[in-house]
Order: sequence, then structure tokens, then C-alpha cells
Amino acid sequence: MGRQATVSSRDLPEEIRGRRRTGDRLAEDLASAGVRDHRVLAAVREVPRDLFVPDHLRHLAWHDTPLPIGAGQTISAPHVVALMCELLELSGDERVLDVGTGSGYHAALLSRLSHHVWSIEREPELSRQAQDNLDAARIKNVTLIVGDGTRGHLEAAPYDAINAAAAASGAPPTDLEGQLASGGRLLVPVDGYDQRLVLTRRTGDDLTRRVLDPVSFVPLRPD
Ligand code: SAH
Repeated sequence: MGRQATVSSRDLPEEIRGRRRTGDRLAEDLASAGVRDHRVLAAVREVPRDLFVPDHLRHLAWHDTPLPIGAGQTISAPHVVALMCELLELSGDERVLDVGTGSGYHAALLSRLSHHVWSIEREPELSRQAQDNLDAARIKNVTLIVGDGTRGHLEAAPYDAINAAAAASGAPPTDLEGQLASGGRLLVPVDGYDQRLVLTRRTGDDLTRRVLDPVSFVPLRPD
């Protein structure tokens, strides 16, 4: 390895050096919070979360905390997003559907872990903002759709993984389970007595559901 091939961090602009430091720190926090998947931790380091939050909250972007993103919605805390990404067991070549684009941050992480992400948001203004955020982060393998995500997105189905960042009522939406490829996984918060993540796995025509951790997401609002 020639010495001149190495880019010293001193040669990088301060903005990028700052992100590297804060990204490394956040990834360490998430590892302490129980995130084990190295690809997920690398994606957390690499996706600039500061580009996905409103300007006046940028100073908080690299803290492990949820933040308001407008339209009464929030970007989830990074440890929640990271643990959800980990549960989908992505290896890099998957087609992924993401329900509830919000800021686009969760979709951005999923895009680093898979081949392509389709992400649906019902609020057109949030979807427009998310597109700007993804463009600023130079992420190209995410397609945004405006619509009701409880019905999934049949045009690009089936999916190897489906992620929802808003809570379904009572059970995982049947349309989403129906758009899973064989071997595919659906992760969705479900409201019952309390709110839990539910992971559905399809094997051929069989669906198995596992009820996992308690979470707190806004409701999925069907049209
Ligand atoms: N994943 C987002 C945060 C999600 S907040 C991020 O990384 O920032 C939940 C989002 O789900 C909100 O933006 C809300 O408008 C959206 N939502 C609620 N019901 C929906 C539905 N039926 N279809 C699509 N999006 C929905």
C-alpha cells in the first residue's frame, strides 16, 4: 500500500471530519444499546442524519433521540431504527418496502443495507422534503411514493423485506404480508393491549409471526 494512497483525515473538509467523529460516537452508543450487526453500525456512521432533520435541530441530529420533522411527525431515535434494520437481516441484494417515509432517514439506512428501497408516505409535503434529504445525502437507490402504505405498493412487489414505521391496529396489514416474497420478512409495530413490534416471516404460503419488543409509534392512518 503506497503512503500517498491514504487520505489523511486532516485533508478532509471540517464538515466531513465532524460527521465522521459524530457518526463514530453514535455508532458506539448504539453498539452499547445492543445493536450487533456491523453493516447496520456502518450504515449509521455513513448516513448523515443531520441532513434529515430540520435546520434548527441539526445540533441534536447525532444524539440518540427522536426529533420533530414537521406535520406533527417525528424521526425515530437512531437505536430504534438500527434495531429494526437489524431484525430484517438484510445482506445487500434485497428489494425492500418502507412504510412511513417521514424524513427519509430510515429508508436511507435500509438503502445502505439492501439493493433497492421503495418508501411510501401519505403526506405529500413530507415525501417532497424526504426526496430533498435523500438527494442531499446522494442516495439514489430509494424510490418515494405518495399514498396509503397499509396497502403496500403492488407495482414493485414482492419484497424480500418490508418495514413499517407507524403502528397497525390489531394485526399486521394483510396486504403487506401478501406482498412478501418467499423467505421475506415484514416488521411492523402493532397496537393491541400495548404496542409491540411483530415480525412476520413467509415461507412458501406459510406465515409465522413473532411478537417482539414494546415500541411507541404513531398510528398508520389508512385513507
Ligand atoms: N421513518 C420515518 C419516521 C416515520 S414517522 C423517518 O425515518 O423519519 C411515521 C410516518 O408514517 C409519518 O410520516 C406519517 O405521515 C406516515 N404514515 C402514517 N400513516 C401512513 C399510511 N397509511 N401510509 C403511509 N404513511 C403513513
